Amino acid sequence: MPRAARPAATRPRFLLDPKLERYAYRCFPDGCPRDRTCCVGLAVEVSKREVRAIDSLMDELARIVPTLRCEDGYASVFVDEEPPDLLIESDDDGACPFLYRTKKNALCSIHSLALATGRHVPDVKPAACRHWPVMLERDGNDVRVTVQPHALKIGCVAPRRELPGKPSVLEAYREEIAEMCGGEVPLCAAASRAAKVRVASDRAARVHVKQRAAKRGDGAR
Ligand code: SF4
Repeated sequence: MPRAARPAATRPRFLLDPKLERYAYRCFPDGCPRDRTCCVGLAVEVSKREVRAIDSLMDELARIVPTLRCEDGYASVFVDEEPPDLLIESDDDGACPFLYRTKKNALCSIHSLALATGRHVPDVKPAACRHWPVMLERDGNDVRVTVQPHALKIGCVAPRRELPGKPSVLEAYREEIAEMCGGEVPLCAAASRAAKVRVASDRAARVHVKQRAAKRGDGAR
């Protein structure tokens, strides 16, 4: 007896939020201001591959952040979330354990180590961190590519008139947005609203929609 055809899996469309063009992005090349960083107060979701990559660097990372080392090895910094993914467990003050501070700045030790040793940053730094301040959020069957609201409070994102000469978030993050959407980015937000964006797997969308979620509803940091 012939089997009934399985219904095709519903695949989300990716839609670009116009905010990606309305907001500009500024990078703090020497590190974020000490007290204004996305590395405090947010939950970072990591894949098993990312955990393995970071684990392989722990000895070097602990030279930058000594608290990563403990008597019997290294601090346990990953906690189980919904399988198959894990979260980086924050310190008591809400900071990521890989964050370190200089007199003026707050920096990611994973990123710093990669730059200092010639490693490819995307090979070792979690995607959730590389994609900041861009996020995906569900919109019915679609997935909206938008800007993290917390980024406005931190100051790395602002309306374009407030950051003259700086690129829009879309311009600055085109490569990352393509990665988040499975390889393609619409040319402009208006085009995406006309539903021309490509689709990617449910799995990709699920992961990115959740990652780098605010721990606190009010976004306080
Ligand atoms: S891994 Fe690095 S970028 Fe990501 S939250 Fe931690 S310190 Fe920040």
